[in-house]
Amino acid sequence: MNRPTTPVRRTDWPAGAEAPLATPLAPAAAYTTAGPDALDDIYEGRAAGYIYARECHPNATVLARKIDALEGLGQGVVTASGMAAIAAATLGTVPAGARVVAGAQLYGRSQRLLREELPRLGIEVAWADPTDGAGIAAEIAGGCAMVLVELVSNPTLRVADMPAIAAAAQAAGATLVLDNTFATPLGAKAGDLGADVVVHSVTKLLAGHSDVTLGYVAARDATLQARIETFAITLGLTPSPFDCWLAERGLQTFELRHARACATAAALADALAAAPAVSGVLYPGRSDHPDHALAAELLGPPWGNMVCFHLSGGRPAVDRFLQAADGRLPFAATLGDVATTLAHPASSSHRALSVEGRAVLGIGEGTLRVSVGVEATDYVLEAFAHALAAV
Ligand SMILES: *Cc1c(COP(=O)(O)O)cnc(C)c1O
Repeated sequence: MNRPTTPVRRTDWPAGAEAPLATPLAPAAAYTTAGPDALDDIYEGRAAGYIYARECHPNATVLARKIDALEGLGQGVVTASGMAAIAAATLGTVPAGARVVAGAQLYGRSQRLLREELPRLGIEVAWADPTDGAGIAAEIAGGCAMVLVELVSNPTLRVADMPAIAAAAQAAGATLVLDNTFATPLGAKAGDLGADVVVHSVTKLLAGHSDVTLGYVAARDATLQARIETFAITLGLTPSPFDCWLAERGLQTFELRHARACATAAALADALAAAPAVSGVLYPGRSDHPDHALAAELLGPPWGNMVCFHLSGGRPAVDRFLQAADGRLPFAATLGDVATTLAHPASSSHRALSVEGRAVLGIGEGTLRVSVGVEATDYVLEAFAHALAAV
């Protein structure tokens, strides 16, 4: 090649670098093509290729194909956050004036999306308890375009009656959207639960290291998926290549992290249930969980990495517990990290609710949520024993 010399661009990528073991990072915002015919071929699907990173980029494709393989619902798309995925699945598809039925214990921001944003388009939202199959089925049968639920709720780990919900959604001709963040595809696959669309906050267990904010959405139907992707591109809900690269790296160990975390969570739930300062434990794998039978049908074993428990001493007991846990068990408003983390729903995720509203959901001032990480099980049990001793 006989090119004029300039340090600006135009340098060939070295030969022999085509097959690095680790996925290359492609931060490029734009891709060069040979000309308009090549653009035609890419846009019309006759050739593979990338044009502009907001539309797609290789690191997003690599990550999406890995999550596709876990969920098995269809070819999904990675978005800039879990909320971006939920926004694309709802705002991007529901017609103005339609009705949506939503699980009453949805993630807090999802509730805000449905309460504060959808009504501007004349979309009516009806709330129903997803653990009451007959009740939510009746709400769905009242007519709706979409149903949005989570299999496992935050923080009390209640399990949605997916067979009843899926049957009702199908009979009503409604699109069933499942936020599978808490269960993860290793807990339950959205397709097996009858979902038409699955969304994830990749930020949580899938990426697993609390260093990226990303989401994922996949629809079973290719036309619906195309609508969701067009909306995501138009609104710029696109993820950054580096975040996708980090999340893909995190995903390599997801199965190992999940297995360790679930085993420790089960042991922790039993240990907490035996502790005098603890007045109640919620873990789907325990026979005293209100939805244990449904969880056995839909979820586990393993039963997940999340554990919820109540300290009988209320907020003062929580304060003493957290003080003693400091340095061993980080207090942080997220889940799915490699570290075991603690959250206090009454002052964080559910602070907008009244005391009575929280009580209906089974959340008090003494309620703590645990996201179990990958530490050795003994380390986690010892850290809890130490913190409980201070209560
Ligand atoms: C965190 C979370 C979300 C939102 O995901 P972000 O990546 O924080 O935008 C949605 N649903 C559930 C169940 C979550 O836990």
